[in-house]
Amino acid sequence: MDYQALLERIAADVAPLVGSGTPAEYIPALASVDRDRFGIAVADLDGKVYGTGDWEHPFSTQSVTKVFALALALSLGGDDLWDRVGREPSGNPFNSLVQLEYENGIPRNPFINAGALVVTDRLLTLTGDASSELLEFLRAESGNPDIAFDPEVAASESEHGDRNAALAHFMASYGTIANPVPALLEDYFWQCSIEMSCADLALAARFLARHGLRADGTRLLSRSEAKQVNAVMLTCGTYDAAGEFAYRVGLPGKSGVGGGIVAVVPGRCTLCVWSPGLDRHGNSVAGMAALDRFTTLTGLSVF
Ligand code: GLN
Repeated sequence: MDYQALLERIAADVAPLVGSGTPAEYIPALASVDRDRFGIAVADLDGKVYGTGDWEHPFSTQSVTKVFALALALSLGGDDLWDRVGREPSGNPFNSLVQLEYENGIPRNPFINAGALVVTDRLLTLTGDASSELLEFLRAESGNPDIAFDPEVAASESEHGDRNAALAHFMASYGTIANPVPALLEDYFWQCSIEMSCADLALAARFLARHGLRADGTRLLSRSEAKQVNAVMLTCGTYDAAGEFAYRVGLPGKSGVGGGIVAVVPGRCTLCVWSPGLDRHGNSVAGMAALDRFTTLTGLSVF
């Protein structure tokens, strides 16, 4: 497959959509990002990476980190995690509180904020520093030692983090959270602030296309766990638009409010697309369209 020509065609096809939607305004440090950016990258199983547009430009990964945090927590701590977080689509916005009370403080899945806080809490218990552990993991898998936190974004989220604080305190009242809430929130905000490019993210996600094998050939997840993480991405990775994402794209995917989306073609390749304009669900408008074009043009979907 000529990935380079394909990506250039997709970029041209979605160009009219770049700039539509709005960047995440509830995190002031993200609101000022140039919405006319667009980049897309594909990494094959051996780590050859192709890209076009702003594919090497670092952006705020935000909730895309949730899939890597989940994989690390499973690899270090095993299945116990699933006692404290479910794996069903929420059908609600990523920062919603309502379901948590009905469901006794157990979040629906690890990819909404409440569930991600549970995963970070678990990683914090297992490692003592969840965000630094995650950063080292992302550097190793992408082969880029320069990947870093963005302190301005972390501070901005912390300052405007009332909703996440509410979720964490509420879960703590049910005993879902093991660590002190302020420490957990700080670690979570640092995690969300990690900056990476499309190339970095496509490379880092390869273990999901390689049935659990890391870049160095060692095993991160069993084949079965890799399947499970991909399945939860497909059903929950784009929040209350997961059905639409499965319908249009037909791949496991994970989005973030920085405008990035990672998608996996198991056994074949990984993709990452970035464009900061978001739809009302918090998913990149041009990013969704580009992934839709990719699977439509290539037939590379899980269906
Ligand atoms: N850091 C963001 C938050 O906690 C992540 C949300 C997202 O990317 N959907 O609100």
